[in-house]
Amino acid sequence: MSRTQTLRERMAREGVNALLVTRPENRLYLSGFSGSAGALLVFPDAAYLLTDFRYLEQAQEQSPDFTVVKADREYHGTVSELMGKHAATTLGFEKDHVTFGMYQMFKDKLPGVELVGVSGWVEQLRRVKDPGEIEKIARAQSLVDQGFGQLLEWMAAGMSEEEVALELECMLRRLGARRMAFEIIVVSGPRASLPHGQPTGRRLGAGDLVTIDVGVTLDGYCCDMTRTVVVGAAGAEEQRIYNVVLRAQEAALEAIKPGLTGVQVDAVARDIIGQAGLGERFGHGLGHGVGLAVHEGPGLSPLAPADVVLEAGNVVTVEPGVYIPGWGGVRIEDLVVVTAGGCRNLTASPKHLIAVRA
Ligand code: ZN
Ligand code: ZN
Repeated sequence: MSRTQTLRERMAREGVNALLVTRPENRLYLSGFSGSAGALLVFPDAAYLLTDFRYLEQAQEQSPDFTVVKADREYHGTVSELMGKHAATTLGFEKDHVTFGMYQMFKDKLPGVELVGVSGWVEQLRRVKDPGEIEKIARAQSLVDQGFGQLLEWMAAGMSEEEVALELECMLRRLGARRMAFEIIVVSGPRASLPHGQPTGRRLGAGDLVTIDVGVTLDGYCCDMTRTVVVGAAGAEEQRIYNVVLRAQEAALEAIKPGLTGVQVDAVARDIIGQAGLGERFGHGLGHGVGLAVHEGPGLSPLAPADVVLEAGNVVTVEPGVYIPGWGGVRIEDLVVVTAGGCRNLTASPKHLIAVRA
């Protein structure tokens, strides 16, 4: 069944007879249209792609299942017209994406229409990837594995975090990455205690742990990986904490299978880190879904909803970390696809504590 058809079933169940899809990843997921501006308007018996002059030709090419319409800038005129044509009175909109300004405008301009804020309808479909999507994510990750391998050959003490990030991005772009899925994180020494720290001019020194978190976008799909490496020889404490994080990560990978909740998988890693006396130092969730967006469902965390269980076709990260202010940190992140019997790891970069030249 087509993605739009599945969405229509939800619309029918919820009594929404028109749905406006504005979130770019959702628009791309349903229609194939990759332009930067546009919206989908889905009815039970028709589907439109609203965009502007710049994208008309591209939209027709990429979205053969949608009727492409040149829309007014704020869509309300076109939406109003099409609502009339299809005798629709209830308009669903993506309440987590639409701005307050846009909502007010629709309220003013479409007086006879009931506006219904909906949440997560397309996101829920996106959680389970089809084989074509998994293939794209796997290719993106394999490109990162390749680039990261090149980086390790090149990286050495004396380089700054910024230089490492820049060089890695160049390597990945040369290997064919369309763009980075997010700004590369490179944090070293005591700065490695910042889970999402930005690279600075700090130079790598002997004995530093360096955490590198990187993902690229390829064919619209993202990947995500983190490795912590050491410059020269690791101290005893660095090695000990690294081993705790690695054990936690491997136990969670071993545990993943359909039917578990995000809370259950998270707890496997969290218990191991807690038993090592570092529970307070693991302050974020274990993982997140990855697809058209680098952060999407399903989440693996103590706060994950109890009614969402892992399903075959989910693609999630597994990324425990330990962060100690003033000392530094360790995070190890792999990307896996959930299978009928467990999971398949899409990340091939090595996971022992790798030493780069001091
Ligand atoms: Zn990451
Ligand atoms: Zn991540």
